[in-house]
Amino acid sequence: MSNKDSYKDMLAAVQAFHDKHDFKNTGGEELAYRVALMTEELGEISACVTKGKAVEDLAEECADLMILLLGTAIAANFRLDDAFWAKMEKITQRESRMINGRIRVSEFRDS
Ligand SMILES: [Mg+2]
Repeated sequence: MSNKDSYKDMLAAVQAFHDKHDFKNTGGEELAYRVALMTEELGEISACVTKGKAVEDLAEECADLMILLLGTAIAANFRLDDAFWAKMEKITQRESRMINGRIRVSEFRDS
């Protein structure tokens, strides 16, 4: 049984999917190809929002992108969980500003 709250188990499921289709030896782990696939899914997320689709559709497209992100971590051999927590730590230190009526959290460089 897998623990649905576990990053490790999610990664193992994506790894099993890659293994099932032998992505490693069939171009499925080529980074430029993966970027194209991720771009495609981002377009589908965009369409959900701009076309006012149901939240279930948005969730499914976000899941598509998340699966691709985990697979990209496999393909490029980096720890996405470590990168996630390191980045959260970093952005937690950043300041926020209201810009054109919306909040923006960034490293603001005043020049
Ligand atoms: Mg999709």
